[in-house]
Amino acid sequence: MKTDRVIYSTFSGWVDAPTDVRPAADGDIACRVAVIGGGVGGMSTALRLAQRGQDVVLVEAEFCGYGASSRNAGQLAGAPGGDLQLLNLLSRKKMPGMMRLAEHAAAHVEDFIGKHGIDCDYEATGNAFAAVSRGQMGRVRRVAKIVTRAGGRVEVGTAAELGIPRGFVGGMREVVGGRLNPGRFSLGMRQVLLESTARVFEQTKVTEVVRDGGQVVLTTPGGRVRADHVVLAANAYAGEWGITPKHLSVPIYVIEVETEPIDPTRIAALGWTSGMGLVTQHTIMENYRLTPRGTIVFGVRRLERGIGYPLPDKVPDDALVEELAGAFARRFPSLADVAIERAWGGWIAITSSWLPLAGQLGDNVHYSIACNGHGLAQAPYVGTLIADAIVDGERHEDLQTLWHEKPKFLRPMMMGRAGLRMIWAYDRLLDLVNGSRRNARRGAVRLS
Ligand SMILES: Cc1cc2nc3c(=O)[nH]c(=O)nc-3n(C[C@H](O)[C@H](O)[C@H](O)COP(=O)(O)OP(=O)(O)OC[C@H]3O[C@@H](n4cnc5c(N)ncnc54)[C@H](O)[C@@H]3O)c2cc1C
Repeated sequence: MKTDRVIYSTFSGWVDAPTDVRPAADGDIACRVAVIGGGVGGMSTALRLAQRGQDVVLVEAEFCGYGASSRNAGQLAGAPGGDLQLLNLLSRKKMPGMMRLAEHAAAHVEDFIGKHGIDCDYEATGNAFAAVSRGQMGRVRRVAKIVTRAGGRVEVGTAAELGIPRGFVGGMREVVGGRLNPGRFSLGMRQVLLESTARVFEQTKVTEVVRDGGQVVLTTPGGRVRADHVVLAANAYAGEWGITPKHLSVPIYVIEVETEPIDPTRIAALGWTSGMGLVTQHTIMENYRLTPRGTIVFGVRRLERGIGYPLPDKVPDDALVEELAGAFARRFPSLADVAIERAWGGWIAITSSWLPLAGQLGDNVHYSIACNGHGLAQAPYVGTLIADAIVDGERHEDLQTLWHEKPKFLRPMMMGRAGLRMIWAYDRLLDLVNGSRRNARRGAVRLS
């Protein structure tokens, strides 16, 4: 693949930043509920609160949609994220609840798009756990059993049966969910929020969150926001404040790249008839998806640990872009001459349990953080449920599924730089072994 003309962006490859960024908060402001962070999680919380007649203020450091929400791969998942075999081993009892939550979350986003007519190219294709080797296909079958036992709807098949590219062995289709343009989805949600009664302050970074009597006070460069309730919805950035529970999550930088437009006949020849987004079964996945502009967006493969706050506005490492290009050429050999045109990345939050979580600190600070790279569907849904819990004083069973009664968290394992490097090396070793086995089989066929 050609990588000599890549445009690196500190924002997203999906959309440009809005031109109508709202003014910063100025002076002292009082409200019933303050939401910090204008990703799809925080925006959904604020919007639901406004719809339910609450006096709500949303405070966002840059502009709503600035974070991971506009930068992701746009795969609206209908199954929980993370390593489902490991989750099943450690939290088997939680699996049916997590499965229900994941499917409800995808349906919630589909309803939201339909109700507000958000123009974000949504297609309900489902998504596939795609196997690049026989070993990965074994894992897919085991995961399919776990998901089915937990009540999820999936189909297992060969690449031809599922309509995924011939370079893959086969996979598991999550029936619920699909693919969308996350930049347009986030900015569409922002527009709906700006038209609501919520007071939205952009360009306003919250530098501290403290209790004061029965209330909570947020410090911003222009003044203070005083609220009865606060929702921390800054995801990977939440560790910036003293109030955030220790080890809540670690910030991880992941990247996506996009090819140049590809001739439709070459795309048709791949056999990707379902149009489903794909995630491989490596410990750290590769993801691939088609776009309506005739390109393929793909990414991740390596996790980069953020050290210290504030998290920097980064561009992807060109060595990782090269590595992704190499992986793409192996998965799509007929497109090995295509160029990568764009690269960007964003910060996600990873929890020690690899499960999304939400909870409360005292009776008036709520947090909804860390969907472990699966938040496109789950963050808006959980945000909405948190808003309802604040208004009604009781929690929906899906919110209860990921609720933490006590804000105590284990230090995430293998999430240091050395640990992440080891996981990456393990994936590459398996790739190497699977590659040699494949070559040996081809050799055997040729000899016979
Ligand atoms: C490259 C990439 C690919 C991904 N692919 C997928 C995918 O295909 N499917 C999927 O389901 N998920 C995916 N994800 C994960 C998904 O994007 C996130 O889980 C989801 O967007 C989280 O939403 P959020 O609202 O919690 O956080 P964010 O969108 O990160 O929002 C947090 C907001 O808080 C603001 N903020 C931070 N600090 C402060 C402060 N001090 N004061 C005020 N505001 C502050 C930020 O500016 C930001 O706008 C991907 C993520 C990335 C980065």
